[in-house]
Amino acid sequence: MRPRIDPATRFFRHVAVDLQTHCWHWTGAINKLTFHGEFWDGEKRVKAHRWSFQHHFGYLPEVVRHKCDLARCVNPTHLEPGDQADNVADCIARDRKHTKLFWKQVLRIREEAEHGVPRAKLALDYGVSEKQITRILRGDSWRTA
Ligand SMILES: [Zn+2]
Repeated sequence: MRPRIDPATRFFRHVAVDLQTHCWHWTGAINKLTFHGEFWDGEKRVKAHRWSFQHHFGYLPEVVRHKCDLARCVNPTHLEPGDQADNVADCIARDRKHTKLFWKQVLRIREEAEHGVPRAKLALDYGVSEKQITRILRGDSWRTA
């Protein structure tokens, strides 16, 4: 068996402090879907920011939210307890932001197409398929989004 190293010691090996924002960037494993840091606490894989919260405040709320906008941040002073309802509200707000961004892009794509930018170029510029560009220009998809 490998010698046991205190989890806190291992934890801080994966922290890089941003001197400007004071965010503690998690430099260990990152979840590709949620962008949260992942930490092996000695028994199981846990979310790094949740581990940090529990380590510094001595308890673990149902949901740990970020006050900063950095999912990989593990600075306990950037974290706050929340409940499932907060989490859902956060997700909806984030979703709205994405939808809004998306619509801005759709409008820009239509505008550029009207000015004669070829579909192949639009597809490249916006990172979507030519088929999707065609659909956007026809207004088939996302009409109700
Ligand atoms: Zn932060």
